[in-house]
Amino acid sequence: LVSARNVHKSYGDNEVLKGIDLDVNPSEVVVILGPSGSGKSTFLRCINHLEDIDRGTIMVAGEQIGYELHGNHLRKLSERGIARQRRDIGMVFQQFNLYPHMTVLQNIVEAPIGVHKQSRHEAEAYARELLEKVGLSDKADAYPRHLSGGQQQRVAIARALAIKPKLMLFDEPTSALDPELVGEVLATMRSLADQGLTMIVVTHEIGFAREAADRVIFMDGGYVIEEGPADRVLVNPQHPRFQAFLSRFI
Ligand code: ATP
Ligand code: MG
Repeated sequence: LVSARNVHKSYGDNEVLKGIDLDVNPSEVVVILGPSGSGKSTFLRCINHLEDIDRGTIMVAGEQIGYELHGNHLRKLSERGIARQRRDIGMVFQQFNLYPHMTVLQNIVEAPIGVHKQSRHEAEAYARELLEKVGLSDKADAYPRHLSGGQQQRVAIARALAIKPKLMLFDEPTSALDPELVGEVLATMRSLADQGLTMIVVTHEIGFAREAADRVIFMDGGYVIEEGPADRVLVNPQHPRFQAFLSRFI
């Protein structure tokens, strides 16, 4: 479903991604680990075309991100074309950024109605299904400020799912939460993984990686240093830097 090849990205003369390769199969859950500044968020933002890449290619669901086939050559996409590609990709950030003046339900149906031109009836019915999925059926009419951080993040997950993405990107979805609220968000993510959603998750929650990830990627300094099945690489990391990184969590 995702295929990244030789992805390079610089900010000025700071080369942040130095040739990233990654393949993700449908229904696979890939967790990206790595120290601060290693380029994890940048890479996710490139997949979603929130950033242009300098070199390499990223394919999602058979399309090259940022480009379309025109006759037999590739042409850079317009803003509209980019927006269309993004519809296949849901993203959840550390800061959930719900609209404070809208109810939970309004937050979730905003994109399906406003951008995807679904009928209100259809969008609301699906939003209620999603709220049930994330365990918040009773909060449809609440405002974000009346919800806990964990509940708000689960609303943000439902909002991202409302556009029926083929791929979900999570960038440290639990790092802004109080420790006692982390578990409920991870449980929601696990159930999505169990239902076969394709997910790329940047997190420092090693327990989640161990239990929910099919594959773990360790990034450092703009490179993928090590990757493999979660049960192997977390138990028996090969690279000294990955060993050192993991030892901090034990
Ligand atoms: P963290 O674990 O702290 O979230 P990260 O692995 O997600 O780190 P990135 O946010 O991808 O790291 O940042 C990688 C590097 O790119 C850092 O050196 C950062 O300063 C730089 N960087 C990120 N975004 C920008 C930007 N918009 N402009 C300039 N430099 C940036
Ligand atoms: Mg980051």
